[in-house]
Amino acid sequence: FDDESIRPTRVEVDLGQLSRNLAAIRAHVGSAKVMAVVKANAYGHGLVAVAQEMVRCGVDSLGVALLEEAVILRQAGITAPILVFGGIAETQIPIFIRHDLTLTAPSIDKLRLIDNAASSMGVTARVHLKVDTGMERLGIHHYSAEKLQQASLQAKHVQVEGIYSHFANADAADLTHARTQLERFLEVLSFYEKHSLPTPLRHIANSGGILQLPESHLDLVRPGIMLYGVYPSEECARSVLIQPALTWKSHVAYFKVVQSNSPVSYGSTWESDHAVRVVTVPVGYGDGYFRALSNKAEVIIRGQRHPVAGRVCMDQIMVNLEWGTAYYRDEVILLGKQGKQQVTAEDLANWAGTIPYEVLTNINTRVPRVYY
Ligand code: PLP
Repeated sequence: FDDESIRPTRVEVDLGQLSRNLAAIRAHVGSAKVMAVVKANAYGHGLVAVAQEMVRCGVDSLGVALLEEAVILRQAGITAPILVFGGIAETQIPIFIRHDLTLTAPSIDKLRLIDNAASSMGVTARVHLKVDTGMERLGIHHYSAEKLQQASLQAKHVQVEGIYSHFANADAADLTHARTQLERFLEVLSFYEKHSLPTPLRHIANSGGILQLPESHLDLVRPGIMLYGVYPSEECARSVLIQPALTWKSHVAYFKVVQSNSPVSYGSTWESDHAVRVVTVPVGYGDGYFRALSNKAEVIIRGQRHPVAGRVCMDQIMVNLEWGTAYYRDEVILLGKQGKQQVTAEDLANWAGTIPYEVLTNINTRVPRVYY
């Protein structure tokens, strides 16, 4: 499909804005390295294109959740270091090593499996140790971490390049738990000094940590959501100026006048007591436009905000213009700016009862991504 015939319901990503966000993060974290988190299709922005832009901007490394995401990046020719955060299945370890990916070792067992696999392949595997300091998700508990650190000294086919943890709520107004996590992590790290060993790359800061806890920046930071110009929560400090890079748009596919008391869409959940102009827009929950947005969300057409009328269908929504104007093929902004109006990921999240992360990552792959 060329630019003219590509589906009108599309995501447009401003790569220049992504690089400005990265530059703002870099300026804020000083000498700390930056790992661009591009998991989940780069938070909906498109895995390969975003990763390529980040590498072009000289980011130090990339972070993904899954082996599969990392392999796609290698197949696209990206040679930068890639850390895979997720837990590993034993059978996948040789694939990690073959693609020169950095593995997460969250336990002594996994570390040994990696060491054995690397040994039988006659190579050294790159590893970051994962310590759980208060998320109770993945990683050895901080109070047992020394055992993993000791085991890593014995693993002859493993190169421990990093050691990391993850914050549970560094984006909150109350930073008590985040501070406790950081203290626990620093205690774990003291192992290296105590034994006069070189310290691997230390990292814990996600967007919340970057924005609210400068003392957590350590050797490397892992920005996800803020790279895309969205703050991790409403109460989080906005200590770095960032802007969204993504616009989700569609167009007016159909125009009609709906008479009074004529219900619109499945379930007949919406009707007007007077005749109104209604347009149909070709986007639906099959694209990731949540059904929970039914009768709640607003879109922008001709610089005006208009509400979604009735249920969101799989492939279409209806929008109530009242007596406003719109013509066939007029641009419809689902997420983004038009004129003075803006619909943000936070707006969509609030209407749908979720968080901006889910709004962005939920935009389906059948929505084409266009870059400029
Ligand atoms: N680091 C790890 C291990 C993650 O799982 C994530 C995402 O959840 C991030 C960093 C980035 O987090 P955020 O998008 O809040 O910056």
